[in-house]
Amino acid sequence: MSRRRLAGLGCAVVLGMVAVSALTAAGGGLGSIKSQDLKEWLSYIASDELEGREIYTSGIGLAAAYIEEHARAWGARPAGDKGRYLQTVRVLGVKTTSHATVTVEVNGETRTFADGEGVVFPKNMGGTQRLTLDRVEFAGYGLDAPAAGHMDYKGKDVRKAAVIWLGPNGPKTVDANVYRRLLVARNRYATEQLGAAASVGVAAAAGAGRGGRGAAGPSASGGSGGGRGALPAADFTTVQRLDALTPPTVTADDAFFTFLFSRAPVKYDELKPKAAAQEPLPSFRLDGVRLTFNVEADYQVVRTQLTQNVVALVEGSDAQLKHTYIAFGAHYDHVGYAEGEVDRADGGARRLGAKGRVTPGKEDDRIWNGADDDGSGTVALLALLKAFAEGPHPKRSLVFVWHAGEERGLLGSRYFADYPTVPIDQIVTQLNIDMIGRNRDDKASEANTVYLVGSDRISTELHNLNRSANAALSKPLTLNYEFNDPADLESLYTRSDHYSYAAKGIPIIFFTTGLHPDYHANTDEVSKIEFDKMTRIVQLVYETGLRVANLDHAPARDNLGPRAGRLTQ
Ligand SMILES: [Zn+2]
Repeated sequence: MSRRRLAGLGCAVVLGMVAVSALTAAGGGLGSIKSQDLKEWLSYIASDELEGREIYTSGIGLAAAYIEEHARAWGARPAGDKGRYLQTVRVLGVKTTSHATVTVEVNGETRTFADGEGVVFPKNMGGTQRLTLDRVEFAGYGLDAPAAGHMDYKGKDVRKAAVIWLGPNGPKTVDANVYRRLLVARNRYATEQLGAAASVGVAAAAGAGRGGRGAAGPSASGGSGGGRGALPAADFTTVQRLDALTPPTVTADDAFFTFLFSRAPVKYDELKPKAAAQEPLPSFRLDGVRLTFNVEADYQVVRTQLTQNVVALVEGSDAQLKHTYIAFGAHYDHVGYAEGEVDRADGGARRLGAKGRVTPGKEDDRIWNGADDDGSGTVALLALLKAFAEGPHPKRSLVFVWHAGEERGLLGSRYFADYPTVPIDQIVTQLNIDMIGRNRDDKASEANTVYLVGSDRISTELHNLNRSANAALSKPLTLNYEFNDPADLESLYTRSDHYSYAAKGIPIIFFTTGLHPDYHANTDEVSKIEFDKMTRIVQLVYETGLRVANLDHAPARDNLGPRAGRLTQ
């Protein structure tokens, strides 16, 4: 069936629906946020018709049209490209030719290591820069795992320093399987979370996955891309500006570390066996050492794929403050459907080409509907848009962004953060919703609980505003900060779209109800959604957004990091 004919049909159906819901809730505001609306919209967004809303498929296109039609019906202003609701997201496949080097100076003696000869830079190393650092800190395993009682950075301020760490598998006191996510992200942790200017570590143990800057690995392009002639293979895929400067994060080999530690209190030939044996490692400053990172690469775009964010705006009522924004976000993509058939060989059943987990006994269901992930956030944003567009407009303006490509590495939100359709420095807060439709692990004891991640990391004031918004609800929710705890192994703080805004220094709150057995399974269905609870969470987001939007100053950015954790009441 061709897209065009399909689209015609789709629109007719959508317009009918929009007219009905617009009529019923004139006036907007908190009271207009209703579970039956959420259910109606989610029943379409997470229907088999939308094929699991994978990026670059017709299903996600239908979802975009549905969102756009509702925004138009409620009188929200288009805020995508050129007066439209859609913002085209360009996903680049890039080939790298590296000219990068690291020069190590130890007590006046220097050696230069080229990329691929002693050091390895990520394929996406950001824009050209030359960075010289005199403060070089050896941080042992470079790992903070409070739950395992291991804290390499305790009492250590590595802001603006170069950090060095060793030990691909970490210390023996930390289970490498349980802490895999933290172990492979040590370079990013040092630079993005602790503010180090650069980080040098060892390559991940074989099969442990790769860190590196917000770029998906080499894309298996090679495919024809539909035209004549195969497309050249890309080294990485990104939506971000290729000229943006980022802290260098490299891995190095024995030759590099031997020279680096040649005048250190403990030499490398002593440290290496200790790290290999996962024994305790010392940590110390490398006096008399200077590192110069010459970050330089030619990037050739060899492929461009297109998708769309959907962006709508409700203008603020205050002449001054309306030029500042509260951003609300969710992702409207999911992982799609399996093209493969069910293989029933040797008595079992297996879905070939599965896009995630297949719930045993449900092999016949080929569609990952993503009702909770993130259908719940997608329709929550619809309810918020309706409540603000049809209700009293607060002083500041409100921008609603339905992000595409979250499942492929936060593509839509990273693109919006680098190519914003409203001034990024005028966004005073971002409220992100991803999976608010269930009880964590399907526990009845979670019926009143919502998890908040990142609320206190950049702005304590925003954190407190959210808490008072909750207290003002007719039925306050239980606010749980377990996933905000630095000890948390899931590191949800880096795993959804708010992170693209936080990386720009914007105070954020990530709302979620947590993981459950249907997470990324083909059984994440509408029938399992807790609509009444979800409605209350949307009302909490509404109240929080309203308070920030009427604040006469932007929430103060004190950047005190995560303090609220699993014990916070
Ligand atoms: Zn999600």
